[in-house]
Amino acid sequence: MSGTPPILVGSEIYRRSTYGPKHPLAIPRVSTTLDLIRALGWLDPARYRDSPMASVAQLARFHDPDYIAALQRAEATQQVSAEDRARFRIGADGNPVYREVFRRPATSAGGVLLAAELTREGGVVHVPGGGTHHGRPDRASGFCYVNDAVLGLLAWLDQGLTRLLYLDLDAHHGDGVQDAFHDDPRVLTVSVHEAGRWPFTGAAEDHAGGLALNLPVPAGFHDAEMRALREGAILPLIRRFRPEAIMLQCGADALEEDPLSRLALSNNAHRDMVAALKGLAPRLIVLGGGGYNPWSVARCWALVWAELNGLAPPVELPAAAQAVLRGLRFHRAAGRNPPEHWFTTLLDAPREGAVRPFVAELVARAEGLPLPPAPVA
Ligand SMILES: [Zn+2]
Repeated sequence: MSGTPPILVGSEIYRRSTYGPKHPLAIPRVSTTLDLIRALGWLDPARYRDSPMASVAQLARFHDPDYIAALQRAEATQQVSAEDRARFRIGADGNPVYREVFRRPATSAGGVLLAAELTREGGVVHVPGGGTHHGRPDRASGFCYVNDAVLGLLAWLDQGLTRLLYLDLDAHHGDGVQDAFHDDPRVLTVSVHEAGRWPFTGAAEDHAGGLALNLPVPAGFHDAEMRALREGAILPLIRRFRPEAIMLQCGADALEEDPLSRLALSNNAHRDMVAALKGLAPRLIVLGGGGYNPWSVARCWALVWAELNGLAPPVELPAAAQAVLRGLRFHRAAGRNPPEHWFTTLLDAPREGAVRPFVAELVARAEGLPLPPAPVA
């Protein structure tokens, strides 16, 4: 890994931006993460970059110009025609028209494109606003309007890189990224996700034409099972592939407290994956992703930043950091009586258990995945 310290890419566009009061993305996430990191004294201003908005031309590297224009129209008019709704799924399927419906996705894309540029010669960049892995070339999908991960990977390819690893820890299958690189031997996509959950793709036998590894896991998937998958399937595959660059999607909806999935990871699992990836390629971009419990999202992503910097989280958070977490309001069941450790700690208690037989089956599939020949060192 290059000797330059990690960079955090954020934006104030996420503060007070909401998909609407009844939507899972009613909650603040990036703003709380940044506030928490700053309250912990973990952000040297020299290491922070404000995310630019991607230009229309940059978005068009992956997205249909007609679709981009429809997003801009929806933001300008705050409504959507029946034709645009049907064709582009804007204002449908959980993808609402909201105040920043073009600017916010364009900012997440701009942040990941900036990260690709900052890592051109090597380095580590954290973009918690990125990770919109369901976005399609010509339509919104799964709360995602653009696919910032695809755009970032394309930017790396455009720099001349030829061996990219995309690893997705979100509870939902990283379908948009997998399908974008269908049959492209330069990009290996790996997705750990809950089996039988929307978008209902990503079966273990689906290799997307050759270079995808899908690791569907059952409800209750816990830290010991993730450790076994990491050590048995994911890390050996990465060492075999020898990527020039790694992009990690760190969806926090795989954590136990999340209201939209039934996985049971603690944030130790995400931290340990970040720790394991740090030395495996000269370039690393860590994105956010899903995550619908505001406490677990902010604690997880602040912990990711700590791990990237080699910082140990305090056993008990200082008052300023607790104040950030105590200031959150959440209108779901979990918000009525939040446990005290959501305010006072960053690191969860580990969630261990017996490793079920599905792990060995997935490890065997990873071992059997054919890869292009490694470059001569
Ligand atoms: Zn998700």
